[in-house]
Amino acid sequence: MIILVINAGSSSLKFTLFDMDDDKKVLANGLIERIGIEGTSMKYQNHKGEKFQEPVPVKNAREGVKLATDFLTDPKRGVLSKLEDINAIGHRIVHGMEKISKPVTVTPEVKEVLKEGSLLAPLHNPHNLVGIEACEAVLPGVPNVGVFDTAFHSTMPPRAYLYGLPYELYENDHIRRYGFHGTSHAYVSGIAAKLDGRPAKDLRIITAHLGNGASITAVRGGESVDTSMGLTPLEGVIMGTRSGDIDPAIVIHLMKTKNLTPGDMDNLLNKKSGVLGLGGIGSSDLRDIEEAANKGNAKCALALDIYAYRIKKYIGSYMAALGGLDILVFTAGAGENSNTLRASVLNGLEGLGFKLDPEKNNVRSPEPRVISAPDSPVKVMVIPTNEELAIAEFTASVLKK
Ligand code: AMP
Repeated sequence: MIILVINAGSSSLKFTLFDMDDDKKVLANGLIERIGIEGTSMKYQNHKGEKFQEPVPVKNAREGVKLATDFLTDPKRGVLSKLEDINAIGHRIVHGMEKISKPVTVTPEVKEVLKEGSLLAPLHNPHNLVGIEACEAVLPGVPNVGVFDTAFHSTMPPRAYLYGLPYELYENDHIRRYGFHGTSHAYVSGIAAKLDGRPAKDLRIITAHLGNGASITAVRGGESVDTSMGLTPLEGVIMGTRSGDIDPAIVIHLMKTKNLTPGDMDNLLNKKSGVLGLGGIGSSDLRDIEEAANKGNAKCALALDIYAYRIKKYIGSYMAALGGLDILVFTAGAGENSNTLRASVLNGLEGLGFKLDPEKNNVRSPEPRVISAPDSPVKVMVIPTNEELAIAEFTASVLKK
């Protein structure tokens, strides 16, 4: 089964082609950036290692999908003899509201949900829909499957997803915790259970997805029971440029005293805060913050300390929510690559059952692995996430049904 995975953003289109019958091999992948802006370019690579990187004349998502498929079937650098070999297209979609709780074939009804979800994910859902419609135009007859970031969290109980606000705001205005990064949390918690060997239904797992965006999820028996991101991906731990949890009264105070508009607040909390705002060196990349801290920059050292401390607090609160813990998983850019971050998150948590093996923690590897000591009551793992592969697997499972 050949699956094309599409991740359509506001000005980018990422695509990956998988052969699910050949050990889920990536046949080719590519990224078109700055679509509709000056300087549009495409990177493409096939499984033979042939690479292409050049400016391309792509004005919209439809032209992007057309170019991607032209490359996939190109006699020289392509990997398919004909487009009809593609069995299905899996789309990364951010918001499925309360209506979509699992991967689904895209129908007119599903598109309506996507449009409704645009109210809560204005930066993502409209572009996801454009990506689907581009595929419908370029690859007519090939089924499109939507894999929603929010779907894995649809199992959260009301006590986890409701805010302490008037109930009507939930009933009438859909204000609740939805959670994000669901495809990644689902994927890494599944791999963790396999690596552990005990049945997933018996396991209590916390997954820490620490990338540019970051979220922590409590998983019981393979289902999300709580997660740190909320109505939007702004809530929770501190991120590259996002504040994470703050006292909501800060918003009111700043708007009043500094005459800030909703747009100004949005920009401040989503784009100027997090380690970018705390570190003050103009970078939101944890590698830069770590390097500056190592050279003695006190603000960056403090930013790292706050970043790790907030993660630690979420781990503690989710251990309480789960009534204990079997496995803690670190994933995504910083979670997979920063041994110092992992050590600092777990520093002082021996009493809660975390015993890190420093040597294992220092190993760099693309493989899923255990980094705790054999006698650690809680197993600590690093599981590289792979959202594209997870979307391809979900798409294949929808198709098989
Ligand atoms: P992602 O969103 O999963 O692609 O993660 C990207 C982020 O991971 C980067 O912006 C960095 O903050 C972080 N990251 C990647 N590699 C490292 C590393 N070796 N050490 C610390 N942080 C890293």
